[in-house]
Amino acid sequence: TSFGYRTVADGEKQPLVNDVFHKVARRYDVMNDLMSGGLHRLWKDAMVSRLAPPRSARTPYRVLDVAGGTGDIATRIVTRSGGPAEATVLDINGSMLAVGRERAEKAGLADKIRFVEANAEDLPFPDRHFDAYTIAFGIRNVPHIDKALSEAFRVLKRGGRLLVLEFSQVDVPMLDRVYDAFSFNAIPAIGRYVAGDGEPYRYLVESIRKFPHQERFAQMIREAGFSRVDYRNFSGGIAALHSGWKI
Ligand code: SAM
Repeated sequence: TSFGYRTVADGEKQPLVNDVFHKVARRYDVMNDLMSGGLHRLWKDAMVSRLAPPRSARTPYRVLDVAGGTGDIATRIVTRSGGPAEATVLDINGSMLAVGRERAEKAGLADKIRFVEANAEDLPFPDRHFDAYTIAFGIRNVPHIDKALSEAFRVLKRGGRLLVLEFSQVDVPMLDRVYDAFSFNAIPAIGRYVAGDGEPYRYLVESIRKFPHQERFAQMIREAGFSRVDYRNFSGGIAALHSGWKI
């Protein structure tokens, strides 16, 4: 890239990503708050509002939260639903899941949220099993995005909903420059301070730059089979929420 970082090839990517999240698992939420100025909370709330999990239903409303880490999205979903929603948090990283499991137990949500260690590219669930599939700040870490999307399509029921929250391309003049300066300097610095190592964060910042533009990503979701695909930008495109349906 123009910033002089080595580009990470697909094959080397997953071990690097795993290393980052093993290191930060315990301090992950603090990092998020520092790096997004707390905005990630608002974006996650907006995602769960858009999902609008049912508050009453005769059958369970099954949600799969992929790359669910410490259970942020799942907790919001089952709390908001207050009844029928049951969440499965899936993550490739046992350290992140361990923090999430502890937290769910403390919050008295252990019967509503289960934790599964697996890869987004190869989901250990039968076809047409879930009512909704969510993934927040996770898909850009997955080496083969197309595989993750086709797995999402496979495990959703007909009428099921896909929601993807991800860092995206800033489309506001000036904000893009401020954001570049912030992410290439401040984020590795915060990483060094909180987790003792800045280098892995450079990779994460680079992965945001390489993630496809909103329109292109919407097209990839359509190619995986989803219908009525749309997106909305949050905070000038720092993050975007994509939605699609399996019909
Ligand atoms: N969704 C949570 C949130 O928004 O707070 C966690 C997001 S965190 C930035 C990204 C997560 O993706 C990490 O927990 C990481 O372990 C997970 N991850 C990376 N590659 C993955 C893969 N191939 N399959 C499943 N999870 C993966």
